Parts: sequence; C-alpha cells; structure tokens
Amino acid sequence: MTMEAKIKKEFEKRFGSEGTIYASSGRINLIGEHTDYNGGFVFPGAIDKCIMAEIKPNGTDKVRVFSIDIDEYVEFGLKEEDAPKQQWARYIFGVCREIIKRGGKVEGFDAVFAGNIPLGAGLSSSAALESCFAFALNDLFNDGKIEKFELARIGQSTEHNYCGVNCGIMDQFASVFGKKNNLMRLDCRSGEFEYFPFEPKGYQLVLVDSAVKHELVDSPYNKRRESCERVARRLGVETLRDATMEMLDAAKSDISEEDYMRARYVIGEKQRVLDVCDALVRGDYETVGERMYQTHEGLSKDYEVSCEELDFLNDVARECGVTGSRIMGGGFGGCTINLVKDELHDKFIETVKARFAEKYGHEPKIYDVVISDGARKC
Ligand code: ADP
Ligand code: MG
Repeated sequence: MTMEAKIKKEFEKRFGSEGTIYASSGRINLIGEHTDYNGGFVFPGAIDKCIMAEIKPNGTDKVRVFSIDIDEYVEFGLKEEDAPKQQWARYIFGVCREIIKRGGKVEGFDAVFAGNIPLGAGLSSSAALESCFAFALNDLFNDGKIEKFELARIGQSTEHNYCGVNCGIMDQFASVFGKKNNLMRLDCRSGEFEYFPFEPKGYQLVLVDSAVKHELVDSPYNKRRESCERVARRLGVETLRDATMEMLDAAKSDISEEDYMRARYVIGEKQRVLDVCDALVRGDYETVGERMYQTHEGLSKDYEVSCEELDFLNDVARECGVTGSRIMGGGFGGCTINLVKDELHDKFIETVKARFAEKYGHEPKIYDVVISDGARKC
C-alpha cells in the first residue's frame, strides 16, 4: 500500500471522514557548507522523500493527531500552556503556535501523518514535518495569505522555541520552496534566492550514511565561528562573504595558521558555489563533481570538521570513479553526498558497503535521492 493510501485508510478509520492531503520534503545540500554563518551561499534542493499528512478542521479548539510511524495518538489545545510532551507532536504544536503568534489563524483539526525520510540522517525530516503542517494550516485557515518565506520562518522558530534546536533557515527554506529538477542558491545574508536547473541525465545522487556521530568536546563549531569572525574583523569586513583570497593572503602574517586555514576554506567555498551555478547552467556535471571533491578536501584539511569514516567514504568514492563526493552537513559524522554515473551506481554501492563494513564493522546506509517538489497540496 502506498503511504497516501495508508494515511487515508487510517484517517477514515479514526475520524470517519476525508480531509485534504499535504506533503513536504526532506532536503540535500549540494554544496555550500559552513557558509551560512559567514553570510555566504547554500545550495539545497528538496528530495523525493517526504512527510505526508491528511488534515481536516474539526470545529473544536482541539488538535487531534495520529502519527502512523510512531504509532501514537496525541491531543492538544492551542494555547501556550497546552504543549504536548511527545517530541514529534511538539513540532506540530510549535507550528500552530508560531502561526498564531504572527496573527494568523489556527483552529482545531484532525490529522494523520507518515513519512519516509530517514530520521536524523541529515535530510531534515523535522523541517519537512514543520513545513508540511505550516503549508497546510496556511491553506486551511489563512486562505494561503502567509508568504512562503514566512512559512519557513515559522518552522525555524518552532525548532528554536519548542524543540531546543538553534538552526538556521536553510532546511525549512528548502522544504517549502523546493522545486522538481531545481536547486536553489540561497544567499544567507540577504535571504534572496535563485533557482538553478538540476537535471543530471546519466547521473544519480546517492547519500552514503556512515551512521557514526562523533561526540564533540570543547564545541568545535563555536571555535570555527570565532576563527571566521576574527579574520573578518582583521580584514575589516562584516563577514567572510566580503573577503577575497587576495585580502586574506595580504594579511597572512598577522593571522594565526589555524584561522588562516579556516578562512581559506570559507572563501574558497563561496567561489565553489558560484562555479557550480555556472556549471549547472551549462549542464556541466563533471565540474560540479570536481567542486564537490574540493569542498570535501577543504572541510577535511582546512576546516577540519571531517572524521576518519567520512574521509574513507570519500576515498572509496574517488577510487570507484564517482564524479563528485563530499561530506554533507556540519561534519564529524553523518552522510556523504555523491554524484554518480548511472553505469557506476550499483558497483559503487556494493563496493562502498563492503569496504566500509570490513573496516568499521557495520554497513553504511544508502539513500538514492531525486530532486523534487517541496511543500504542496496533493
Ligand atoms: P532530522 O535531521 O531528520 O531533521 P531531527 O532530530 O531534527 O532529525 O528530527 C527528527 C524528529 O522529527 C523525530 O525524532 C520526530 O520527532 C520527528 N519526525 C520526523 N519524521 C517523522 C515521522 N515520519 N513521524 C513522526 N515524527 C517524525
Ligand atoms: Mg532536524
């Protein structure tokens, strides 16, 4: 049975009626890592894995939701003190509250939802969940009047205020604005964005999930941020977005070796994102792949946020002749994203699974993804 059929069956069984079906997607980020807090670019796209919900106003002041995957039913009111204790339900409650706080309308509704985005794998299942409900509640109670960017901010504020995750805007942005066969270059400084065609005929996008997460001591993320801020101050710019390699090299003698490496990565990454945009317009996926490898190299050697397992996955990809491969996400574990020629796909997966398992005792998880639409009514 399809996910949609399962949801419909469950909704009918629980609520004895029929609602409207909405969905929103998980996301990948092709390139542009650790750039958001430097005022730079990210380059995400929505994928063909989503959260789907059937929803219907119920004429009360209560929300009644059933999660098929967690097999749990929760009821909550819409006032601040009504917050449910189940984590999954807090995402939905948070979205309701953030809409209400902005002067929007939310009344009681019934919902059944399910998803096929692996949780915690770096594909942002939580943003998909928020975006799905934000989009739906905008359509059902607000005549679609809340702007799409505001829907993304509603998801982001939900993470901040109800889930304790201090995230940026990229995940919710990608989930809301995602468009089939398109990636989006988001300028994290201005909030402006542009679609770029992504139709890699003859290639596939494959995520290889190391399923490792290294415990971090003395907050390496904060240290990276501090390095970037220090160099920006030294160069007299607001963020490294405005710095060039020439400026960095001219100031090299009074920047520490470590800060220099961090800044070199960030400045290089900005250029790589722009190069990828040009390459996509030309349909040149070989250049896209090269830049992905360069990003990995930079994240590993200059920014030092890789780990043994991710470097190993990257090496195996290269040995297999994969077109592009790099760490996706903050680093220290999680996935690599790989651009793989169709004819190499099966062999690569077989090889990377076997070699990784031989070395680390467990197989990595493999997710094929296709760039698809984001938030929508089905
Ligand atoms: P991710 O990186 O995938 O966003 P998070 O930890 O931020 O990982 O979010 C995962 C959480 O989102 C889950 O613990 C759950 O609360 C919620 N969630 C995601 N997908 C589903 C689903 N299909 N059903 C119920 N809850 C879900
Ligand atoms: Mg999340």
